[in-house]
Amino acid sequence: MQGIFESILLTKTFTTDLKVIKLVSTMKYTCLRGTKDILPEDMQYWHHIESISRNLFNYYNFEELRTPIFEMTELFERGIGDDTDIVEKEMYTFTDKGDRRITLRPEGTAPIVRAYLQNGLDKKSGQSKFYYCGPMFRYERPQAGRYRQFHQIGVESIGNEHPYADAEVIALGIHLFDEFGLTGLSVSINSVGCPVCRPVIEERLKQFIGSNLKKLCGDCQKRFDGRPLRLLDCKNKKCKTYLTGNSNIHDSHCHECADHFSSVIDYIEAMGIPFKIDPTLVRGLDYYTRTTFEIVSEHLGAQNAICGGGRYDYLVEQFGGKKTPAVGFAFGVERAVMVLKQHSDIIQKANPLIYLVPLGESNRPALFKLLNELRRNEFKCEIDYSGSDLNKCLKKANKMGASNVIILGDDEALSQTVIVKNMIKREQQLVSLDKVVDVLNDSK
Ligand code: AMP
Repeated sequence: MQGIFESILLTKTFTTDLKVIKLVSTMKYTCLRGTKDILPEDMQYWHHIESISRNLFNYYNFEELRTPIFEMTELFERGIGDDTDIVEKEMYTFTDKGDRRITLRPEGTAPIVRAYLQNGLDKKSGQSKFYYCGPMFRYERPQAGRYRQFHQIGVESIGNEHPYADAEVIALGIHLFDEFGLTGLSVSINSVGCPVCRPVIEERLKQFIGSNLKKLCGDCQKRFDGRPLRLLDCKNKKCKTYLTGNSNIHDSHCHECADHFSSVIDYIEAMGIPFKIDPTLVRGLDYYTRTTFEIVSEHLGAQNAICGGGRYDYLVEQFGGKKTPAVGFAFGVERAVMVLKQHSDIIQKANPLIYLVPLGESNRPALFKLLNELRRNEFKCEIDYSGSDLNKCLKKANKMGASNVIILGDDEALSQTVIVKNMIKREQQLVSLDKVVDVLNDSK
Protein backbone atom coordinates (compact mmCIF):
# COMPACT_ATOMS: atom_id res chain seq x y z
CA MET A 1 0.00 0.00 0.00
CA GLN A 2 2.81 2.34 0.99
CA GLY A 3 4.53 1.59 -2.33
CA ILE A 4 1.51 2.70 -4.35
CA PHE A 5 1.20 5.84 -2.25
CA GLU A 6 4.86 6.73 -2.74
CA SER A 7 4.67 6.27 -6.49
CA ILE A 8 1.68 8.61 -6.72
CA LEU A 9 3.52 11.24 -4.67
CA LEU A 10 6.65 11.02 -6.80
CA THR A 11 4.72 11.29 -10.04
CA LYS A 12 2.98 14.41 -8.78
CA THR A 13 6.05 16.11 -7.37
CA PHE A 14 8.40 15.57 -10.26
CA THR A 15 6.26 15.68 -13.35
CA THR A 16 8.77 17.87 -15.19
CA ASP A 17 11.83 15.82 -14.28
CA LEU A 18 12.00 13.14 -16.98
CA LYS A 19 14.56 11.06 -15.14
CA VAL A 20 12.39 10.78 -12.06
CA ILE A 21 9.30 9.98 -14.11
CA LYS A 22 11.25 7.15 -15.74
CA LEU A 23 12.19 5.84 -12.32
CA VAL A 24 8.60 5.97 -11.17
CA SER A 25 7.37 4.17 -14.27
CA THR A 26 9.59 1.16 -13.47
CA MET A 27 7.72 0.68 -10.17
CA LYS A 28 5.11 -1.60 -11.69
CA TYR A 29 2.75 -3.94 -9.93
CA THR A 30 1.51 -6.87 -11.94
CA CYS A 31 -0.94 -9.61 -11.10
CA LEU A 32 0.64 -12.91 -10.12
CA ARG A 33 1.69 -15.60 -12.63
CA GLY A 34 -1.27 -17.75 -13.64
CA THR A 35 -3.83 -15.06 -12.75
CA LYS A 36 -5.31 -12.39 -14.99
CA ASP A 37 -7.57 -9.38 -15.01
CA ILE A 38 -10.84 -9.81 -16.83
CA LEU A 39 -11.17 -6.54 -18.70
CA PRO A 40 -14.41 -4.70 -19.54
CA GLU A 41 -13.92 -5.54 -23.25
CA ASP A 42 -14.24 -9.27 -22.38
CA MET A 43 -17.15 -8.91 -20.00
CA GLN A 44 -19.79 -9.38 -22.69
CA TYR A 45 -18.51 -12.96 -23.15
CA TRP A 46 -18.56 -13.65 -19.41
CA HIS A 47 -22.05 -12.19 -19.03
CA HIS A 48 -23.28 -14.20 -22.03
CA ILE A 49 -22.06 -17.44 -20.40
CA GLU A 50 -23.23 -16.57 -16.89
CA SER A 51 -26.71 -15.44 -17.88
CA ILE A 52 -27.39 -18.40 -20.21
CA SER A 53 -26.11 -20.78 -17.50
CA ARG A 54 -28.40 -19.32 -14.83
CA ASN A 55 -31.39 -19.50 -17.19
CA LEU A 56 -30.79 -23.12 -18.15
CA PHE A 57 -30.07 -24.21 -14.57
CA ASN A 58 -33.46 -22.80 -13.70
CA TYR A 59 -35.19 -24.82 -16.46
CA TYR A 60 -33.46 -27.99 -15.25
CA ASN A 61 -34.48 -27.13 -11.66
CA PHE A 62 -30.98 -26.60 -10.26
CA GLU A 63 -30.64 -24.01 -7.46
CA GLU A 64 -27.62 -21.87 -6.69
CA LEU A 65 -25.46 -22.67 -3.66
CA ARG A 66 -22.53 -20.39 -2.82
CA THR A 67 -19.73 -21.67 -0.62
CA PRO A 68 -16.67 -19.83 0.79
CA ILE A 69 -13.54 -19.74 -1.38
CA PHE A 70 -11.46 -21.26 1.41
CA GLU A 71 -12.13 -24.37 3.44
CA MET A 72 -10.37 -26.71 5.86
CA THR A 73 -7.51 -28.41 4.00
CA GLU A 74 -8.70 -31.81 5.20
CA LEU A 75 -11.94 -31.47 3.24
CA PHE A 76 -10.02 -31.61 -0.04
CA GLU A 77 -7.43 -34.13 1.14
CA ARG A 78 -10.18 -36.58 2.06
CA GLY A 79 -12.59 -35.70 -0.72
CA ILE A 80 -10.32 -35.45 -3.76
CA GLY A 81 -7.78 -38.01 -2.49
CA ASP A 82 -4.34 -37.69 -0.87
CA ASP A 83 -2.27 -38.83 -3.81
CA THR A 84 -4.04 -37.01 -6.62
CA ASP A 85 -2.18 -34.27 -8.51
CA ILE A 86 -4.48 -31.63 -7.07
CA VAL A 87 -3.85 -32.53 -3.43
CA GLU A 88 -0.20 -33.50 -3.83
CA LYS A 89 1.03 -30.62 -5.95
CA GLU A 90 -1.58 -28.00 -6.71
CA MET A 91 -3.33 -26.74 -3.62
CA TYR A 92 -2.88 -23.24 -2.22
CA THR A 93 -2.61 -24.24 1.42
CA PHE A 94 -1.55 -22.05 4.32
CA THR A 95 -1.83 -21.76 8.06
CA ASP A 96 -3.92 -18.84 9.27
CA LYS A 97 -3.29 -16.72 12.35
CA GLY A 98 -5.29 -19.20 14.43
CA ASP A 99 -3.00 -22.04 13.32
CA ARG A 100 -5.69 -23.64 11.14
CA ARG A 101 -4.74 -25.42 7.89
CA ILE A 102 -6.68 -23.68 5.16
CA THR A 103 -6.90 -24.23 1.41
CA LEU A 104 -8.21 -22.01 -1.37
CA ARG A 105 -10.77 -24.26 -3.05
CA PRO A 106 -9.33 -26.13 -6.04
CA GLU A 107 -12.76 -27.45 -7.09
CA GLY A 108 -16.44 -27.12 -6.18
CA THR A 109 -17.79 -30.59 -5.44
CA ALA A 110 -16.26 -31.22 -2.00
CA PRO A 111 -17.44 -27.80 -0.66
CA ILE A 112 -20.96 -28.36 -2.03
CA VAL A 113 -21.19 -31.75 -0.33
CA ARG A 114 -19.86 -30.22 2.90
CA ALA A 115 -22.49 -27.44 2.70
CA TYR A 116 -25.23 -29.95 1.87
CA LEU A 117 -24.52 -31.90 5.05
CA GLN A 118 -23.65 -28.98 7.33
CA ASN A 119 -26.88 -27.12 6.54
CA GLY A 120 -29.12 -30.17 6.84
CA LEU A 121 -30.09 -30.02 3.15
CA ASP A 122 -29.87 -33.81 3.12
CA LYS A 123 -32.93 -33.88 5.40
CA LYS A 124 -35.09 -31.80 3.06
CA SER A 125 -35.99 -33.93 0.07
CA GLY A 126 -34.95 -37.06 -1.74
CA GLN A 127 -33.04 -35.20 -4.40
CA SER A 128 -31.14 -31.91 -4.30
CA LYS A 129 -29.90 -30.13 -7.40
CA PHE A 130 -27.35 -27.33 -6.96
CA TYR A 131 -25.25 -25.14 -9.19
CA TYR A 132 -22.29 -22.92 -8.38
CA CYS A 133 -20.12 -20.33 -10.13
CA GLY A 134 -16.86 -18.90 -8.91
CA PRO A 135 -13.09 -18.84 -8.76
CA MET A 136 -10.99 -21.96 -8.13
CA PHE A 137 -7.28 -22.11 -7.36
CA ARG A 138 -4.69 -24.66 -8.49
CA TYR A 139 -0.92 -24.26 -8.51
CA GLU A 140 -0.44 -25.56 -12.05
CA ARG A 141 2.10 -24.63 -14.72
CA PRO A 142 0.34 -21.77 -16.51
CA GLN A 143 -0.22 -21.96 -20.25
CA ALA A 144 -2.96 -20.97 -22.71
CA GLY A 145 -6.24 -22.04 -21.09
CA ARG A 146 -4.57 -23.08 -17.83
CA TYR A 147 -4.45 -20.66 -14.94
CA ARG A 148 -3.77 -20.71 -11.23
CA GLN A 149 -6.96 -18.78 -10.55
CA PHE A 150 -9.71 -19.80 -12.94
CA HIS A 151 -13.50 -19.89 -12.82
CA GLN A 152 -15.79 -22.85 -12.90
CA ILE A 153 -19.52 -23.15 -13.31
CA GLY A 154 -20.79 -26.52 -12.16
CA VAL A 155 -23.80 -28.57 -11.13
CA GLU A 156 -24.28 -31.29 -8.54
CA SER A 157 -27.32 -33.57 -8.58
CA ILE A 158 -27.37 -35.26 -5.18
CA GLY A 159 -29.63 -38.13 -4.12
CA ASN A 160 -30.49 -39.80 -7.42
CA GLU A 161 -28.82 -43.08 -8.37
CA HIS A 162 -30.87 -43.53 -11.53
CA PRO A 163 -28.86 -43.47 -14.80
CA TYR A 164 -31.29 -40.78 -15.92
CA ALA A 165 -29.50 -38.39 -13.50
CA ASP A 166 -26.17 -39.01 -15.29
CA ALA A 167 -27.83 -38.51 -18.67
CA GLU A 168 -29.58 -35.36 -17.42
CA VAL A 169 -26.34 -33.62 -16.38
CA ILE A 170 -24.62 -34.63 -19.64
CA ALA A 171 -27.61 -33.28 -21.60
CA LEU A 172 -27.47 -30.08 -19.55
CA GLY A 173 -23.74 -29.67 -20.31
CA ILE A 174 -24.31 -30.05 -24.04
CA HIS A 175 -27.41 -27.84 -23.94
CA LEU A 176 -25.36 -25.09 -22.24
CA PHE A 177 -22.64 -25.10 -24.90
CA ASP A 178 -25.26 -25.19 -27.68
CA GLU A 179 -26.95 -22.13 -26.15
CA PHE A 180 -23.59 -20.34 -25.82
CA GLY A 181 -23.30 -20.89 -29.58
CA LEU A 182 -20.23 -23.12 -29.40
CA THR A 183 -19.60 -25.73 -32.07
CA GLY A 184 -16.95 -28.42 -32.58
CA LEU A 185 -17.61 -30.13 -29.25
CA SER A 186 -17.63 -33.84 -28.52
CA VAL A 187 -18.60 -35.90 -25.48
CA SER A 188 -16.41 -38.75 -24.24
CA ILE A 189 -17.89 -41.10 -21.69
CA ASN A 190 -16.69 -44.01 -19.58
CA SER A 191 -17.45 -45.91 -16.39
CA VAL A 192 -14.73 -46.43 -13.77
CA GLY A 193 -16.75 -49.06 -11.87
CA CYS A 194 -17.66 -49.22 -8.20
CA PRO A 195 -16.05 -50.62 -5.01
CA VAL A 196 -17.20 -54.11 -6.12
CA CYS A 197 -15.60 -54.23 -9.57
CA ARG A 198 -12.89 -51.56 -9.27
CA PRO A 199 -10.49 -53.96 -7.48
CA VAL A 200 -10.95 -56.46 -10.33
CA ILE A 201 -10.24 -53.79 -12.95
CA GLU A 202 -7.19 -52.62 -11.02
CA GLU A 203 -5.83 -56.12 -10.48
CA ARG A 204 -6.11 -56.98 -14.18
CA LEU A 205 -4.35 -53.75 -15.07
CA LYS A 206 -1.53 -54.43 -12.60
CA GLN A 207 -1.06 -57.93 -13.94
CA PHE A 208 -0.97 -56.60 -17.49
CA ILE A 209 1.77 -54.07 -16.63
CA GLY A 210 3.69 -56.69 -14.64
CA SER A 211 7.44 -56.50 -15.18
CA ASN A 212 7.13 -53.38 -17.37
CA LEU A 213 6.44 -51.24 -14.30
CA LYS A 214 10.04 -49.96 -14.09
CA LYS A 215 9.80 -48.69 -17.68
CA LEU A 216 6.83 -46.41 -16.89
CA CYS A 217 7.16 -42.75 -15.89
CA GLY A 218 7.73 -41.77 -12.25
CA ASP A 219 4.08 -40.74 -11.73
CA CYS A 220 2.78 -44.08 -13.04
CA GLN A 221 5.22 -46.05 -10.86
CA LYS A 222 4.06 -44.07 -7.84
CA ARG A 223 0.38 -44.61 -8.64
CA PHE A 224 0.73 -48.30 -9.46
CA ASP A 225 -0.03 -49.55 -5.95
CA GLY A 226 -2.57 -47.04 -4.67
CA ARG A 227 -4.31 -45.63 -7.79
CA PRO A 228 -3.47 -47.93 -10.72
CA LEU A 229 -6.48 -46.72 -12.73
CA ARG A 230 -4.75 -43.37 -13.20
CA LEU A 231 -2.16 -45.14 -15.38
CA LEU A 232 -4.83 -45.25 -18.07
CA ASP A 233 -4.91 -41.49 -18.57
CA CYS A 234 -1.15 -40.89 -18.37
CA LYS A 235 -0.19 -38.56 -21.23
CA ASN A 236 3.37 -39.95 -21.50
CA LYS A 237 3.80 -41.61 -24.93
CA LYS A 238 6.05 -44.39 -23.58
CA CYS A 239 3.52 -45.28 -20.87
CA LYS A 240 0.75 -45.37 -23.49
CA THR A 241 2.66 -47.98 -25.53
CA TYR A 242 3.07 -50.23 -22.49
CA LEU A 243 -0.69 -50.04 -21.92
CA THR A 244 -1.65 -50.93 -25.50
CA GLY A 245 -3.45 -54.26 -25.57
CA ASN A 246 -4.66 -53.98 -21.98
CA SER A 247 -8.14 -55.48 -21.62
CA ASN A 248 -11.04 -53.04 -21.92
CA ILE A 249 -12.12 -51.71 -18.51
CA HIS A 250 -15.74 -52.50 -19.50
CA ASP A 251 -14.98 -56.25 -19.61
CA SER A 252 -14.39 -56.21 -15.85
CA HIS A 253 -17.49 -54.29 -14.76
CA CYS A 254 -19.89 -55.94 -12.33
CA HIS A 255 -23.49 -56.48 -13.57
CA GLU A 256 -24.81 -53.38 -11.80
CA CYS A 257 -22.15 -51.09 -13.26
CA ALA A 258 -22.56 -52.61 -16.73
CA ASP A 259 -26.35 -52.12 -16.57
CA HIS A 260 -25.99 -48.58 -15.25
CA PHE A 261 -23.56 -47.65 -18.02
CA SER A 262 -25.67 -49.12 -20.80
CA SER A 263 -28.76 -47.26 -19.50
CA VAL A 264 -26.83 -43.96 -19.44
CA ILE A 265 -25.81 -44.61 -23.04
CA ASP A 266 -29.42 -45.45 -24.00
CA TYR A 267 -30.68 -42.19 -22.48
CA ILE A 268 -28.10 -39.96 -24.10
CA GLU A 269 -28.65 -41.71 -27.42
CA ALA A 270 -32.40 -41.17 -27.02
CA MET A 271 -31.72 -37.45 -26.52
CA GLY A 272 -29.72 -37.39 -29.77
CA ILE A 273 -26.43 -36.43 -28.08
CA PRO A 274 -23.42 -37.59 -30.10
CA PHE A 275 -20.77 -39.26 -27.91
CA LYS A 276 -17.89 -41.67 -27.96
CA ILE A 277 -16.97 -44.28 -25.35
CA ASP A 278 -13.41 -43.79 -24.10
CA PRO A 279 -12.33 -46.66 -21.81
CA THR A 280 -9.26 -44.66 -20.68
CA LEU A 281 -11.22 -41.68 -19.35
CA VAL A 282 -10.66 -42.00 -15.59
CA ARG A 283 -10.24 -38.31 -14.57
CA GLY A 284 -7.94 -37.05 -11.86
CA LEU A 285 -10.17 -36.97 -8.79
CA ASP A 286 -10.53 -40.00 -6.54
CA TYR A 287 -14.20 -39.62 -5.71
CA TYR A 288 -15.55 -40.74 -9.10
CA THR A 289 -17.50 -43.99 -9.34
CA ARG A 290 -19.24 -45.39 -12.43
CA THR A 291 -19.86 -42.64 -15.03
CA THR A 292 -17.08 -40.22 -15.96
CA PHE A 293 -17.37 -37.85 -18.90
CA GLU A 294 -15.64 -34.96 -20.59
CA ILE A 295 -16.67 -32.42 -23.19
CA VAL A 296 -13.79 -31.47 -25.46
CA SER A 297 -13.52 -28.57 -27.92
CA GLU A 298 -11.71 -28.87 -31.25
CA HIS A 299 -11.09 -25.10 -31.10
CA LEU A 300 -8.80 -25.29 -28.04
CA GLY A 301 -5.14 -26.34 -28.11
CA ALA A 302 -3.47 -28.67 -25.63
CA GLN A 303 -5.96 -27.78 -22.89
CA ASN A 304 -8.96 -28.89 -24.96
CA ALA A 305 -11.20 -30.22 -22.15
CA ILE A 306 -13.87 -27.64 -21.51
CA CYS A 307 -16.08 -29.60 -19.12
CA GLY A 308 -15.57 -32.64 -16.93
CA GLY A 309 -17.72 -34.58 -14.56
CA GLY A 310 -19.06 -37.85 -13.32
CA ARG A 311 -20.78 -39.81 -10.61
CA TYR A 312 -19.56 -39.82 -7.00
CA ASP A 313 -21.77 -42.19 -5.02
CA TYR A 314 -19.64 -42.38 -1.87
CA LEU A 315 -18.53 -38.80 -1.16
CA VAL A 316 -21.54 -37.84 0.98
CA GLU A 317 -21.01 -40.94 3.10
CA GLN A 318 -17.28 -40.26 3.31
CA PHE A 319 -18.08 -36.80 4.72
CA GLY A 320 -20.28 -38.31 7.44
CA GLY A 321 -23.69 -38.41 5.74
CA LYS A 322 -25.72 -41.46 4.87
CA LYS A 323 -25.01 -43.26 1.60
CA THR A 324 -26.21 -40.83 -1.07
CA PRO A 325 -25.53 -41.21 -4.79
CA ALA A 326 -24.60 -38.08 -6.74
CA VAL A 327 -23.45 -36.88 -10.13
CA GLY A 328 -22.21 -33.53 -11.46
CA PHE A 329 -19.90 -31.59 -13.75
CA ALA A 330 -17.90 -28.38 -13.91
CA PHE A 331 -16.78 -26.37 -16.90
CA GLY A 332 -14.03 -23.78 -17.11
CA VAL A 333 -15.34 -20.31 -17.93
CA GLU A 334 -11.98 -19.05 -19.26
CA ARG A 335 -11.88 -21.93 -21.75
CA ALA A 336 -15.50 -21.34 -22.82
CA VAL A 337 -14.66 -17.63 -23.32
CA MET A 338 -11.61 -18.57 -25.43
CA VAL A 339 -13.80 -20.59 -27.79
CA LEU A 340 -16.55 -17.99 -27.80
CA LYS A 341 -14.10 -15.25 -28.80
CA GLN A 342 -13.29 -17.20 -31.96
CA HIS A 343 -16.97 -16.76 -32.88
CA SER A 344 -17.44 -13.16 -31.77
CA ASP A 345 -20.46 -12.77 -34.10
CA ILE A 346 -22.47 -14.82 -31.56
CA ILE A 347 -22.38 -12.08 -28.98
CA GLN A 348 -25.06 -9.41 -29.29
CA LYS A 349 -23.59 -5.96 -29.69
CA ALA A 350 -23.65 -4.11 -26.40
CA ASN A 351 -26.16 -1.28 -25.97
CA PRO A 352 -24.40 1.64 -27.74
CA LEU A 353 -23.57 4.82 -25.84
CA ILE A 354 -25.48 8.08 -26.20
CA TYR A 355 -23.45 11.18 -25.34
CA LEU A 356 -25.21 14.35 -24.16
CA VAL A 357 -23.55 17.74 -24.64
CA PRO A 358 -24.96 20.87 -22.96
CA LEU A 359 -23.67 24.04 -24.61
CA GLY A 360 -23.31 26.42 -21.68
CA GLU A 361 -23.88 25.92 -17.98
CA SER A 362 -27.49 27.17 -18.09
CA ASN A 363 -28.49 24.31 -20.41
CA ARG A 364 -27.08 21.58 -18.19
CA PRO A 365 -30.21 21.03 -15.96
CA ALA A 366 -32.52 20.39 -18.94
CA LEU A 367 -30.06 17.80 -20.28
CA PHE A 368 -29.76 16.20 -16.85
CA LYS A 369 -33.51 15.71 -16.91
CA LEU A 370 -33.26 14.08 -20.35
CA LEU A 371 -30.28 11.97 -19.19
CA ASN A 372 -32.39 10.63 -16.36
CA GLU A 373 -35.31 9.88 -18.67
CA LEU A 374 -33.10 8.09 -21.21
CA ARG A 375 -31.48 5.90 -18.55
CA ARG A 376 -34.91 4.97 -17.22
CA ASN A 377 -35.77 3.93 -20.77
CA GLU A 378 -32.73 1.61 -20.86
CA PHE A 379 -30.38 3.76 -22.92
CA LYS A 380 -26.72 3.80 -21.95
CA CYS A 381 -25.78 7.48 -21.57
CA GLU A 382 -23.04 9.82 -20.47
CA ILE A 383 -23.19 13.61 -20.13
CA ASP A 384 -20.29 15.92 -20.84
CA TYR A 385 -18.96 17.66 -17.74
CA SER A 386 -15.98 19.40 -19.31
CA GLY A 387 -17.75 22.42 -20.81
CA SER A 388 -15.39 22.08 -23.82
CA ASP A 389 -16.41 23.39 -27.23
CA LEU A 390 -18.66 21.24 -29.42
CA ASN A 391 -15.86 19.98 -31.68
CA LYS A 392 -13.87 18.63 -28.77
CA CYS A 393 -17.00 17.02 -27.32
CA LEU A 394 -17.78 15.33 -30.64
CA LYS A 395 -14.24 13.97 -30.85
CA LYS A 396 -14.54 12.62 -27.34
CA ALA A 397 -17.94 11.04 -28.13
CA ASN A 398 -16.39 9.42 -31.18
CA LYS A 399 -13.53 8.00 -29.14
CA MET A 400 -16.01 6.59 -26.64
CA GLY A 401 -17.87 4.85 -29.49
CA ALA A 402 -21.09 6.85 -29.05
CA SER A 403 -23.79 6.03 -31.60
CA ASN A 404 -25.61 9.34 -31.05
CA VAL A 405 -24.78 12.73 -29.58
CA ILE A 406 -27.53 14.93 -28.16
CA ILE A 407 -26.77 18.63 -28.16
CA LEU A 408 -28.66 21.35 -26.33
CA GLY A 409 -27.69 25.00 -26.92
CA ASP A 410 -29.53 28.27 -26.28
CA ASP A 411 -31.59 28.12 -29.52
CA GLU A 412 -32.74 24.56 -28.80
CA ALA A 413 -33.59 25.51 -25.20
CA LEU A 414 -35.90 28.24 -26.48
CA SER A 415 -37.75 25.84 -28.78
CA GLN A 416 -37.71 22.90 -26.27
CA THR A 417 -35.74 20.79 -28.75
CA VAL A 418 -32.36 19.07 -29.00
CA ILE A 419 -30.09 18.16 -31.89
CA VAL A 420 -29.78 14.40 -32.25
CA LYS A 421 -26.61 13.66 -34.20
CA ASN A 422 -26.24 10.12 -35.49
CA MET A 423 -22.48 9.45 -35.41
CA ILE A 424 -22.64 6.39 -37.65
CA LYS A 425 -24.82 7.80 -40.44
CA ARG A 426 -23.24 11.24 -39.95
CA GLU A 427 -26.61 13.02 -40.08
CA GLN A 428 -28.51 15.10 -37.58
CA GLN A 429 -32.09 16.20 -36.86
CA LEU A 430 -33.87 18.61 -34.57
CA VAL A 431 -36.10 16.67 -32.18
CA SER A 432 -38.67 17.92 -29.68
CA LEU A 433 -37.49 17.12 -26.11
CA ASP A 434 -40.50 14.90 -25.44
CA LYS A 435 -39.88 12.84 -28.59
CA VAL A 436 -36.19 11.96 -28.04
CA VAL A 437 -36.90 8.52 -26.57
CA ASP A 438 -39.14 7.61 -29.55
CA VAL A 439 -36.59 8.81 -32.10
CA LEU A 440 -33.75 6.87 -30.44
CA ASN A 441 -35.91 3.77 -30.19
CA ASP A 442 -36.73 4.02 -33.91
CA SER A 443 -33.05 4.34 -34.83
CA LYS A 444 -32.04 1.19 -32.89
P1 AMP B 1 -11.81 -30.54 -13.26
O1 AMP B 1 -12.31 -29.84 -12.02
O2 AMP B 1 -10.36 -30.83 -13.22
O3 AMP B 1 -12.66 -31.72 -13.61
O4 AMP B 1 -11.97 -29.51 -14.46
C1 AMP B 1 -13.21 -29.14 -15.03
C2 AMP B 1 -12.97 -28.03 -16.03
O5 AMP B 1 -12.41 -26.88 -15.37
C3 AMP B 1 -11.95 -28.35 -17.11
O6 AMP B 1 -12.54 -29.05 -18.17
C4 AMP B 1 -11.47 -26.97 -17.53
O7 AMP B 1 -12.37 -26.37 -18.44
C5 AMP B 1 -11.52 -26.21 -16.23
N1 AMP B 1 -10.17 -26.13 -15.61
C6 AMP B 1 -9.59 -27.04 -14.79
N2 AMP B 1 -8.37 -26.62 -14.40
C7 AMP B 1 -8.17 -25.42 -14.98
C8 AMP B 1 -7.10 -24.46 -14.97
N3 AMP B 1 -6.01 -24.64 -14.25
N4 AMP B 1 -7.25 -23.32 -15.70
C9 AMP B 1 -8.38 -23.10 -16.43
N5 AMP B 1 -9.42 -23.96 -16.46
C10 AMP B 1 -9.32 -25.10 -15.76
